[in-house]
Amino acid sequence: MSTSPSMLTILGATGSIGLNTLDVVSRYPDNYEIFALTAHTNIKKLYELCLLHKPKIAVTSTEIQAKQLADSLRAAGLKIKIFFGEEGLSAAASASEVTHVMAAIVGGAGLVPTLAAARAGKIILLANKEAIVMGGNWFLSIAEQAKAVLLPIDSEHNAIFQCLPINLENAKLDDSRRPDVKKILLTASGGPFLTRPLETFSTIRPEEACAHPNWKMGRKISVDSATMINKALELIEATLLFSMPASQIQVLIHPESIIHSMVAYKDGSVLAQLGNPDMRTPIAHALAWPNRIESGVEVLDLISTGQLNFLPVDFQRFPGIALGRQVAEARDCSSIVFNAANEVAVANFLAGQGLRFNAISEKIDEVLQLLSKETSRKAEGIEDILALDAKTREITQNLCQRGN
Ligand code: NAD
Ligand code: MG
Repeated sequence: MSTSPSMLTILGATGSIGLNTLDVVSRYPDNYEIFALTAHTNIKKLYELCLLHKPKIAVTSTEIQAKQLADSLRAAGLKIKIFFGEEGLSAAASASEVTHVMAAIVGGAGLVPTLAAARAGKIILLANKEAIVMGGNWFLSIAEQAKAVLLPIDSEHNAIFQCLPINLENAKLDDSRRPDVKKILLTASGGPFLTRPLETFSTIRPEEACAHPNWKMGRKISVDSATMINKALELIEATLLFSMPASQIQVLIHPESIIHSMVAYKDGSVLAQLGNPDMRTPIAHALAWPNRIESGVEVLDLISTGQLNFLPVDFQRFPGIALGRQVAEARDCSSIVFNAANEVAVANFLAGQGLRFNAISEKIDEVLQLLSKETSRKAEGIEDILALDAKTREITQNLCQRGN
């Protein structure tokens, strides 16, 4: 590892990925310093994290929260600068002292600060898949111009990254070896409803959808896993991160979540990355890349793991994945609509406002069709992306309120 410590900003520090990141870096206090921690609503947790990790900066969403936090930190004798709002997040992500940014805000709210990190040429540990799905190739070109490095945290993309021939200079698939790669096998657990009778899907409650069998995650991604729209987002994410057509990416159900994804080569070799389902492994991998550090995760015991199973995707059960494939193949603005419609539909389902579980993918389909004339083009920049995102959110919210 390098001798000078890495300076880390964690966007979304109070979330599942944020806390797992702090767990890993606190094992190496000489190698990682915390520059900034950010949170949206859980200011009590952010205060506790500030006491423990003593960042230079903490970021809240509102000015009132910022004042509250500043008062309590001052009372505790800590000198930490407090910023707030999108500008505060972007400043924390792009400050000159920062080397690494963990992008772990959930949803579209993470796009602008992650973009600020990209523009500033940071090493970005990308958990916030919605940001890349929205930003698409435009975001990638901005990152490339600024020589930012994108390291995937999503366990599947991190696994694919570990199995692909990666260029150490830019952390991208080595183009001279691209023809050797036949396909990517993107694995999916299938979530909590892999075998639940289809006719009962309309009665699924938010708590049931959030009870993932293998992973403990935030509520939004848990619902995405239950609808398998998470895998659809990941399919789009993989086409972008590895610059690979969707036709070369096969989604495969693997209920045990032990193999995190695979890469098939032209000589018949299939390379897989395996491990206990614990996000600290991909986080530690990306933090130390191209070196390795301890993550706190036990090495897999294959004897006690037992059988590994594989199944094809049932598109009737998980229609969102078929929609996601169309979007991934189109490589246009439909990914912005897909993501925003999903976020709004999931929020309505989680709020218990009467949106059925299966209505989530129905609403996305409806909105994609409604906006189809506006989406068959490339995004032109951040204003363009945010405008289509806002329009989609408004239309979806109206559709959700109109009933299901
Ligand atoms: P989470 O809900 O546990 O945490 C989200 C974090 O984002 C919190 O710190 C919250 O304060 C912050 N946040 C939420 N809304 C915000 C807003 N409007 N403005 C600013 N900050 C906001 O979510 P998570 O499970 O940690 O997931 C984070 C991201 O990582 C998601 O994009 C998810 O898809 C991705 N991811 C998570 C996992 C996992 O195991 N949890 C695995 C792979 C990918
Ligand atoms: Mg994943």
